[in-house]
Amino acid sequence: MSRRAVIFDLDDTLIVEQAFAMASLREAIAVFPGVDPVVSETDALESIRSVWRRGADYPLCLQLGLASWEGLWSAFDGNHESMAGLHAWAPAYRTEAWETVAAGFDAADPALAGLAGDRFDAAQRRGHPVIDGMEQALDGARDRGPVGLLTNGSSDLQRFKLDQAGLTDSFDTVVVSGEAGVGKPRPAVFALVLERLGADAEDSVMVGDSWERDVEGALASGMTAVWIADGRPPPERDPRVTVVDSVRELDGVLG
Ligand SMILES: [Mg+2]
Repeated sequence: MSRRAVIFDLDDTLIVEQAFAMASLREAIAVFPGVDPVVSETDALESIRSVWRRGADYPLCLQLGLASWEGLWSAFDGNHESMAGLHAWAPAYRTEAWETVAAGFDAADPALAGLAGDRFDAAQRRGHPVIDGMEQALDGARDRGPVGLLTNGSSDLQRFKLDQAGLTDSFDTVVVSGEAGVGKPRPAVFALVLERLGADAEDSVMVGDSWERDVEGALASGMTAVWIADGRPPPERDPRVTVVDSVRELDGVLG
């Protein structure tokens, strides 16, 4: 008997992630004298990314789908052994990233840089907003079969966000790229979640907002996909991909 699973992405599919992080960043850089956070947000992010890209484990971060701003509030705890170097680097990364941001604003003051870092961390821990319609989407998926979560990120952050959103017990299995040591779009991580759900790829669907990681990864794994477009045009048309604007529109799409 086939097992028809629905597998969800977390960030910007079920909870608001990037926009929330950018709001935290604006809050953080407001500590620097004369800086307009809205005007300077992009410069600050570029400073942070410049440090992130120089990290010895940057290729691993790309593979696991870890963003520069995640390193600003993650200890990289609870992950696969391949992330030991990132775990060790995290405090130094954070200090250097904020000092680079400060220097970019002509405010080479370690105390201000530290304050910005603390503000970002506190803002990120306040609780990510959930996407409207998330609970109904999960209920609808559960009617269809087993439900999994497949998320790229560090174990400590992804599980913290799940907990804050009240989602810890909402899935039959949770696969985090940091824990698995492999991330979307690699087929191995889709195979892992399908195996844990006892589901067949050809009868299962991936729901996510990243075309490259969620959609292309699912298709390469033999699944179909629902792309959360959020107003963006799809990069291409594919009969295996259903395009919706948000999880609110999942009802009736999962079949
Ligand atoms: Mg996402």
